[in-house]
Amino acid sequence: MKLVLIGAPGSGKGTQAKYLTEKYHIPQISTGDLLRAAVAAQTPLGRQAKAIMDAGQLVPNDIVIGMIRERIARPDADQGFVLDGFPRNIAQAVALDDILDKMGKPIDAVLQFDVDAEMLIQRMTGRLTCLACGALFNLFTQPPAVDDCCDECGGPLRHRSDDNEETIERRLSVFETLTQPLSDYYKQKGILHMVEAHGDIAEVTKRVKSALRGLRPKRTPVKPMIEPVTTPSKSAKPEIKHTRVSEPKPKLRPRKKLKSITGNTRVKKLEIEKELPKVTGKKTTRACLLY
Ligand code: ADP
Ligand code: ZN
Repeated sequence: MKLVLIGAPGSGKGTQAKYLTEKYHIPQISTGDLLRAAVAAQTPLGRQAKAIMDAGQLVPNDIVIGMIRERIARPDADQGFVLDGFPRNIAQAVALDDILDKMGKPIDAVLQFDVDAEMLIQRMTGRLTCLACGALFNLFTQPPAVDDCCDECGGPLRHRSDDNEETIERRLSVFETLTQPLSDYYKQKGILHMVEAHGDIAEVTKRVKSALRGLRPKRTPVKPMIEPVTTPSKSAKPEIKHTRVSEPKPKLRPRKKLKSITGNTRVKKLEIEKELPKVTGKKTTRACLLY
């Protein structure tokens, strides 16, 4: 199954991608994770990307397209993949189509996660990621059982450096102007599925399931070694047509409103920081099980 997840930062793509990897036994391919790995390894690419990411801007297309081309070609992606955070603009979408066309692996479905700006900001300011296993938590909606420690593996939890208010606002506006147009791009191809992304994780997963119900991976014609005598080839089967395409909601709230939402969040965030002083974006000093 070849799936693409699009949605504003904080819309829950990463969380649902993890569910989809288990359901379909396919890898999650996240350009954000690949870039963060390069930053952590302090490669030349990572050093270049860090400043761009911390500013909330998009890393140049040739870099991320190159990463995706290389990653999709690996054997574990043979049966499909969940793309999370790529493509992020039309040029990337066109490049992806080109890569997949050549490989005979067309996209089966694009899920667009739709959620209002206020919720996005709350999700991002509260987001915590396990440094060891990548599990996601949220201070507001899904706190870890022990502060700063991962429930899954005991590893230390880290607040992402680009999950601060200024960068969040920039990322949301980049999403509106550059990524949102992908909605029409995929709608025209008849493969867009809108998913309401408010509510808790289990509710959103339910909607993801129902959006994908009945979906079968597209078959691409594979040239037989010997021409079949009379039996028609599998590729002659009619393709399943998907009709579950709904109108995308209008854009996120106008920037003016976003600002005031961000202002409220600052108050909320400060209050929470008072209670939980560790969540400040710095590496935790508390010893977790493994560290
Ligand atoms: P989020 O969706 O929450 O913003 P990601 O982990 O997907 O988080 O991305 C973090 C940052 O990595 C982005 O703000 C951007 O700088 C960079 N990035 C990730 N994917 C892409 C991409 N496809 N094109 C350009 N930059 C990207
Ligand atoms: Zn963990």
